[in-house]
Amino acid sequence: MKGSTADIVICGAGIAGVSAAYHLAVRHRVKNIVLIDERPPLTLTSDKGTQAYRNWWPGPDDTMVRFMNRGIDLLEELADECGNLFDLNRRGYVFLTADTRNAAELERHAQAVSAFGAGPVRVHKGLEDYPPSPPRGFQGQPTGADIVLDAATILRHFPFITEDVVAMTHVRRCGWLDSMRLGGWLLENAEAHGVRLVRDRVEAVRTVGGRVQTILLQSGGLLDASNLVIAAGPLLKQVGAMLGLDVPVVNELHGKITFRDSLGVVPCSAPMMIWNDTVRLKWTDSERVNLKAREDSTFLLDEFPAGVHFRPRGNGERCELLLIWTYETKSWEEPVWPPVYPRYYAQVCLRGLSRMIPGLSAYFGHESEGVVDGGYYCKARDNRPVIGPLPVEGAHAIAALSGYGVMASQAAAELLAAHIVGGPLPNYADAFLFARFDDPEYQTMLKRLDALSGQL
Ligand SMILES: Cc1cc2nc3c(=O)[nH]c(=O)nc-3n(C[C@H](O)[C@H](O)[C@H](O)COP(=O)(O)OP(=O)(O)OC[C@H]3O[C@@H](n4cnc5c(N)ncnc54)[C@H](O)[C@@H]3O)c2cc1C
Repeated sequence: MKGSTADIVICGAGIAGVSAAYHLAVRHRVKNIVLIDERPPLTLTSDKGTQAYRNWWPGPDDTMVRFMNRGIDLLEELADECGNLFDLNRRGYVFLTADTRNAAELERHAQAVSAFGAGPVRVHKGLEDYPPSPPRGFQGQPTGADIVLDAATILRHFPFITEDVVAMTHVRRCGWLDSMRLGGWLLENAEAHGVRLVRDRVEAVRTVGGRVQTILLQSGGLLDASNLVIAAGPLLKQVGAMLGLDVPVVNELHGKITFRDSLGVVPCSAPMMIWNDTVRLKWTDSERVNLKAREDSTFLLDEFPAGVHFRPRGNGERCELLLIWTYETKSWEEPVWPPVYPRYYAQVCLRGLSRMIPGLSAYFGHESEGVVDGGYYCKARDNRPVIGPLPVEGAHAIAALSGYGVMASQAAAELLAAHIVGGPLPNYADAFLFARFDDPEYQTMLKRLDALSGQL
């Protein structure tokens, strides 16, 4: 690598960097691209999530819905091209409530998101059924959302759910995929089109006259390059600093538990399911006494926020549940590895989810059998990504992909490539520019936007 040259160096081979390499090399035939990562591809954050996708994003405007719709169009196109190697499904996201006041809110929220272009809302009051989602495949499915306001219909489709459920929204242009297989296929194609994958660490970037000129590697190698793409995931801030930039992002810790459902409480064909009400965890009287006695565990008796959710993985006897509940948010500018999760995380998730699926109480006391892992959502304050040129000439970013980097990977990489090759830009491009951080209007917009906007 000593003294070599590249037209484009991509720093980071997570789903963002690999997708960028694919779009540039395969779709735009750009030659001489070097993709650098200090780790094996896709192993820092991109393999740690639930790998789910949705076109269901709140406002204040339709930016995220348009961006995600485009991303899903591209995922579907790729799935068709590779015979759905990465198992894209369309099971949907199901939001449930046992609170009649929340039922009205589900409907109001659905109408608002629908108005942004996420598809029509169909309300079912019990007289007619609604079409369930198939466990596999993604073709020929409705968009928008089905709201079901009849408990009997909900329980007919999902008999493992608590009987006091009153309403649900089944959002339809959603599902999940295998991000390792998607990333592996993209990388294979990019390499077949000349992309060189190099295992090394970008240590520094030399600029001359305000332009990217040389990339310095940990191995001592030097790479002359006119373009650098930062796809460094939670290390965005550190790599940005190599260009003298202070990228205004933080890293928010998110964990998940992978729990084997050996008793078959939940069918493995279930969709992603989210409990939309606040929860008090179930404890026995003696457990309550013990929890009260310790300062670090009294919070377990408090009310927890809405949002505990899961999706199944695998099939038959090997069915696992991936459980997530970000009931508290912690952020760092410099992420810490390995991430440290709250001591009671597994217990809180399992007990929280048992509010929605009472049968899970059979696993109380076995929480430690679940595997806890996760990573960081690298986020700007508006919870929107940073895609496009940076203030140093030749430098670009495809980053700050928060909790949606897998689902957004293709729209993000298409947009990045359009910036680099000078192609037409979609109408959401400006919302993701680094330049927005210096725009006084951005500060005004932050008042309307929330860093947790659209986050599960
Ligand atoms: C618990 C959890 C659940 C999630 N669920 C979902 C979900 O359901 N759907 C979804 O779409 N998204 C989800 N996400 C978010 C998604 O996983 C991320 O947005 C996405 O993986 C970010 O990809 P990336 O390529 O930007 O970063 P990463 O995957 O972190 O890749 C960055 C790469 O850059 C490399 N790198 C950094 N600095 C350097 C350097 N100096 N030199 C060389 N290499 C460097 C790193 O080694 C790393 O491999 C979830 C995340 C978590 C943690």
